[in-house]
Amino acid sequence: MQPLSADEIRSSFVNSSRSLVKAMTLPRDFDSLPWDSLDYLGWRDPKAPARGYLVVRRDDCVTGIAVNTAATGKPRRGTGLCDLCHTAHQVTDVALFVARRAGAVGKAGNTVGTYICADLACSLYLRGLRELEVPQGETVAAEVRVERLGQRLETFVSRVLA
Ligand SMILES: [Zn+2]
Repeated sequence: MQPLSADEIRSSFVNSSRSLVKAMTLPRDFDSLPWDSLDYLGWRDPKAPARGYLVVRRDDCVTGIAVNTAATGKPRRGTGLCDLCHTAHQVTDVALFVARRAGAVGKAGNTVGTYICADLACSLYLRGLRELEVPQGETVAAEVRVERLGQRLETFVSRVLA
């Protein structure tokens, strides 16, 4: 993706209060992000790890979505799948992220929940840039998986915006 400025990111959020955006901390490696290898910018807040952010370029606009992880409290075992990139992980490396929907429905408590790579680094897994700990059942070519990630991301964003 084309690099984003800090201002573009801060003004992109569609489901977040002004105070939350103000409290947001950018990724630690913001000055050296591998933009060429990213389909979306995703990160966990270094100062508030239960919070995460996904920022996507869509046509001419930039859409940012703030998400929260729901703690299950139960010990979990086995493997899990990211809903966005379909990468298989140890179940502890996949997290259920909940996004408040945009607008009035969101203010009324309406949310969208999705399992996503816990570090929000789908793009890096698909490109073999981050190590995987479990064998992958997926045999589809990387570029096809990248394309599908883009489609699923768009679906997720439209559910939050709808
Ligand atoms: Zn993923």
